[in-house]
Amino acid sequence: MTPYDRKPWLSSYEPGKPHAITPEFTDALSLFRAAVARAPSLPAILYFDGSLSYAELDTQSDALACAWQDRGITRGERVAIYLQNIPQFVIALVATWKLGAIAVPVNPMNRARELRVILADSGARLLVCSETLYVDIVRPLLAEEANAENGVLPLVMTTSELEYQRRHDPRLFANTSRQETPGAESLSAVIAANAGRHPPPAALGPNDIAMLVYTSGTTGVPKGAMNTHGNVAFNAQVYRDWITLGEGEPILGVAPLFHITGLIGHIGAAFMCAAPLVLACRFEPGVMLDTLREHRPAFTIGAITVFIALMNHPNATRDCFASLTKIYSGGAPIPPSVVEAFRERFGHYIHNGYGLTETNSPTHVVPRGVEAPVDPASGTLAVGVPAYNVESYIGDDEGKPMAVGEVGEIISRGPMIVPGYWNKPQESAKAIVDGYFRTGDVGFMDERGWFYLVDRKKDMINASGYKVWPREVEDVLYTHPAVREAAVVGVPDAYRGETVKAVVSLKPGTNVTPEELAEYCKARMAAYKYPRVVMIMDELPKTVTGKILRRELRG
Ligand code: AMP
Repeated sequence: MTPYDRKPWLSSYEPGKPHAITPEFTDALSLFRAAVARAPSLPAILYFDGSLSYAELDTQSDALACAWQDRGITRGERVAIYLQNIPQFVIALVATWKLGAIAVPVNPMNRARELRVILADSGARLLVCSETLYVDIVRPLLAEEANAENGVLPLVMTTSELEYQRRHDPRLFANTSRQETPGAESLSAVIAANAGRHPPPAALGPNDIAMLVYTSGTTGVPKGAMNTHGNVAFNAQVYRDWITLGEGEPILGVAPLFHITGLIGHIGAAFMCAAPLVLACRFEPGVMLDTLREHRPAFTIGAITVFIALMNHPNATRDCFASLTKIYSGGAPIPPSVVEAFRERFGHYIHNGYGLTETNSPTHVVPRGVEAPVDPASGTLAVGVPAYNVESYIGDDEGKPMAVGEVGEIISRGPMIVPGYWNKPQESAKAIVDGYFRTGDVGFMDERGWFYLVDRKKDMINASGYKVWPREVEDVLYTHPAVREAAVVGVPDAYRGETVKAVVSLKPGTNVTPEELAEYCKARMAAYKYPRVVMIMDELPKTVTGKILRRELRG
């Protein structure tokens, strides 16, 4: 018997809470339908001064699903959703599920190169995007693809962030205007044209895939984590039961909806509780503070930089946060000093939560009302204890359990672990062994069952919860004609936790400035990925065998 078999963490669960839960729903659509049945006239989405009731979300997604079915979208087909945090994201997601199709959320910060990889890998037949992204990225990409062999050519439907509200907040929408999108259909026109239609019921089970959520790997190639309906339904319930989310209590969407935190901690949790999901397009701290005052949400979860940005905004008052009594943060390391400063100013404790795209958001969470211990040796805040039905341990390189306090890889099993990656059996078999998922995160468990992250096995850079894989940035740098060698590392950053640094050497006879190289990357990748610091050296430091010494580049 290992120390993990005894599950020492159970004694830290909130008093009165069960040690395990039984899933109430087999799939995400049933969870949504139950909310429609319980609260048809209550808001499902609040978007500035606009709102959409559960019944309206149901009829609009019905209409959209029928239109998509007419256009050949069937069960198992992939639908890419390339949108900010706007109501249409949720309508498209529900419409996808109603057809038994698979949603592929795409980061709206992605540039053409990144979008293409996801469209190609997922084989998406349909893409929903904003008018702006269509004009700037999608249309030029499709024009190129039309001439390419094996070109990626999904049907496209466009929409606008300006719809579903009238306020047109200049802090968000100053540069956003309606645009003509020749070659694409309008999402709202299609919904209106199909009003009153209902798709035939899609029989979904827990093993059906609800969405492919893309995460890059060490090789820089994105992998679609196959989040099943069972995964989504289970973890949505974990949110409700673990945090005690109340029926109908508003949830604030500060995390991006394309990320697993937004998908489950916002959309899934809202459906579970028939609660309104408060959306505000993209994260802008001043707008978020106004939104807090206007809609008075009770719960949110987001990366710690969200709370740092809100706390440091001149308009932040105790009153803004008065309703927000259930605060969780995950996705990136949390400095204990930030938790303390936030509590001192606003009276609320930020609870840590840990998980990955492959675990459908949290596997380890701090029980509500409990304070996470801080490791005295390293000053690290515990990420939490294994949540309901999670079996977790620290394993050595072979995956064998290690002693309490020993540092190794966090390995977990449970109903939230994805079955694998889309079309990647080898990677899947490497990551998930006997149902146990190898996270690649390095940490330890204390004798009370609290887990701590101390490092990563992987080279990943974590900038405000956004993950950057050095290999991807290096690959782009290598396409520049002047670059001879490139190495990308994470360096500490006071606000983002970590930021991206590139060190390059140049080909003889070429000349390029660090600023030009940063601009070159910026044009080819999402804004959080491009190197903020570029250093040019004659020669990169290497081992005798010629391997680049990344550690030396971090200084
Ligand atoms: P993602 O797939 O984008 O959700 O990223 C998952 C990774 O984020 C994990 O492998 C961790 O390295 C990191 N992470 C998630 N939650 C936490 C947390 N609470 N503290 C520190 N790092 C975290």
